[in-house]
Amino acid sequence: MFLKGKTALITGSTSGIGLGYAKVLASEGANVVINGFGDAAAIEAERKALEAASGARAIYLGHDLTKPAEIEAMMGEAAKAFGGVDIVINNAGMQFVSPVEEFPTEKWDLIIALNLTSAFHTTRLAVPWMKQRKWGRIIQTASAHSLTASPFKSAYVAAKHGLAGLTKTVALETATFGITANCISPGYVWTPLVENQIPDTMKARGMTREQVVNDVLLAGQPTKQFVTVEQVAAMALYLCRDEAAGITGANMSIDGGWTAQ
Ligand code: NAD
Repeated sequence: MFLKGKTALITGSTSGIGLGYAKVLASEGANVVINGFGDAAAIEAERKALEAASGARAIYLGHDLTKPAEIEAMMGEAAKAFGGVDIVINNAGMQFVSPVEEFPTEKWDLIIALNLTSAFHTTRLAVPWMKQRKWGRIIQTASAHSLTASPFKSAYVAAKHGLAGLTKTVALETATFGITANCISPGYVWTPLVENQIPDTMKARGMTREQVVNDVLLAGQPTKQFVTVEQVAAMALYLCRDEAAGITGANMSIDGGWTAQ
């Protein structure tokens, strides 16, 4: 239990990849702060399961991370409960699929706010605690789309490229404080986020569901397999280890070979 005594805040952790991170970090004894939307009873059940796994505390803060004031409130609550956070995983994200000329401007603003700007706010608020403790881990769920583009995802690709740039900058600023900042960039992972974009992609490209899965989602992934939540979570856990202290400003691809092409 190498994370005993440490506190991890994981945004967007009521589902998918974020919940996967919460589970592995709790399994190593960390206190965890989970965040995101969903059914209250299901979230409470997950929270209890995390406490059972860690033998430490798990709290749920359901703030809406598209709103900077709510991010400040969430970080304040986490600090009240744990005196600060040692590990921040910026994972909350959303997708919207549309040709750029039809892209709803309010969707653009939301995606930039959630997928990029929220990471700026959690980071700026957590870095002082990490500097004080001379240890910290900032991990972003970026994406293969932080390195390459696909049509009809202008806001998402722009936000993820921005997140990669933010991460490199923060890595340079924090390098002498025992803090690392890295991106994990998955290819397609089978989660609700991927499932939910299938109908829009069917519409945007005039395809069947099967065609979207095989010819769009897995087309670029040479392994022809979805990446798993567990594979992504294992990378985050590794980045929290002392053995990973020399990895900072990196963008770790877990994409079945997608960006090697
Ligand atoms: P998901 O939809 O299962 O999870 C998204 C999480 O974000 C949920 O907990 C949701 O409640 C939360 N969330 C949504 N809006 C929020 C808001 N306004 N405030 C706070 N929380 C909010 O999706 P996922 O696939 O697990 O995605 C997690 C991250 O992984 C995202 O950043 C996504 O871009 C990235 N990613 C996913 C894939 C993939 O193929 N699934 C690939 C690469 C990157």
